[in-house]
Amino acid sequence: MTSSNETVADIARVFRGTFVHSTQNAALEILEDTVLGVDTEGRIAFIRRAEEVAKLSDRWGFRISDVRHLGPDRFFMPGLVDTHIHASQYSYSGTALDLPLLQWLNTYTFPIEANYKDLDFSQDVYTKVVKRTLKNGTTTACYFATIYTDSTLLLGEIADKFGQRALVGKVCMDLNNTVQHYKETTDHSTEETNRFIDELLKRKYGLVRPVVTPRFVISCTSKLLDHLGEIAKNNDLHIQSHISETKEEVDLVRELFPDSESYADVYRKHNLLTDKTVMAHACHLTDSELKLFRDTGASISHCPNSNISLCSGMLDVRRVMKHNVKLGLGTDLAGGYSPSMLDAMRRTLDTSKALTIQDPQYKTLNFEEVFRLATLGGSEALSLHDRTGNFEVGKDFDALLINPFVPDSPFDVFPNENIKMILEKFLNLGDDRNIVEVYIAGRRVVPFQSV
Ligand SMILES: [Zn+2]
Repeated sequence: MTSSNETVADIARVFRGTFVHSTQNAALEILEDTVLGVDTEGRIAFIRRAEEVAKLSDRWGFRISDVRHLGPDRFFMPGLVDTHIHASQYSYSGTALDLPLLQWLNTYTFPIEANYKDLDFSQDVYTKVVKRTLKNGTTTACYFATIYTDSTLLLGEIADKFGQRALVGKVCMDLNNTVQHYKETTDHSTEETNRFIDELLKRKYGLVRPVVTPRFVISCTSKLLDHLGEIAKNNDLHIQSHISETKEEVDLVRELFPDSESYADVYRKHNLLTDKTVMAHACHLTDSELKLFRDTGASISHCPNSNISLCSGMLDVRRVMKHNVKLGLGTDLAGGYSPSMLDAMRRTLDTSKALTIQDPQYKTLNFEEVFRLATLGGSEALSLHDRTGNFEVGKDFDALLINPFVPDSPFDVFPNENIKMILEKFLNLGDDRNIVEVYIAGRRVVPFQSV
């Protein structure tokens, strides 16, 4: 019986065991013998020490016999946030890594993205990428699709069907001299962006939202960038694009926009740098550009696999942190060859170590910091931290249940290893076999239901 008349939400699930997550103050907090309750809206109702379970049962009205015990050395961690992924490039991930960015786009990317006019092809690839990323623990994805509106709406529909939290962007580009058939006119791009946003919002998907998506400065006229800045502002929408991935691209932008102070300044002038903007790469930003990011609240998606695979550059994460710029991690399929955020974490550590090899004074990132970037950091970068990112009361329950003892586990656990060591092993050696259940907004989405 409750001791007051205060109404409490109905509880849908209660788990007892170990929870690991990041907080504002700690890159890694390990909560052992803890109970967590999820309400019928999918939100975290409470997270308390297990010794309080009787009191909690009394207050929230659940039966102690319904509490699910995770078992020793299994644990929940927050779902992974992929802040930059091209759903439309999934089909050729793991190949085509032999050219620098601008040639890579012309040779591989644009001809393949042009195939998404075909909705059957779109359906096949988009279903596979949503399932693949969910299996690998990506509970939130910030997707680039292609220039085709109906195909991009289909990506939103598929993410919704499988229960993934997603920002979905119809790509805008009215400049493309090399692959002429893969571009739009300025007016068409603007009209179709409006149609995409209207249609997607009309469908009232709980977890899928549109994101305004200029491909990057080189693919867009100033007029189109202006229109997109206005659309984002009028609808209070997220914005995503690329910035300073390679030096060649930075030089080209300087030639195209001689009146702008910098690459970042081009976006700022078109109202595309806001506190809901996420820009991928940012390897070659100057200090004044990083200051512009901090001042506008725009964030950076660090995509280390892609940065190395296309020999684009190495982002100095410490420098970004020093400038207090929000930062998350991205797979950047298919410039990055892996759809897994575990890989993004590993490549982040590799890049940091490469910087230390170049300068032994450089303070290498540790695995706890990288864990934070892939979870809470990503949610901050996408301005979704009031909904997801860690196990705070009131946030949605977006979580991965990790079991290090599954048959064929890619790593072994030995006696006396604590949860911190097991987590580190999982982050470095684990894979989707260890991610036995995935929850998004309280709904179990992996293993897949027949849909
Ligand atoms: Zn990208």
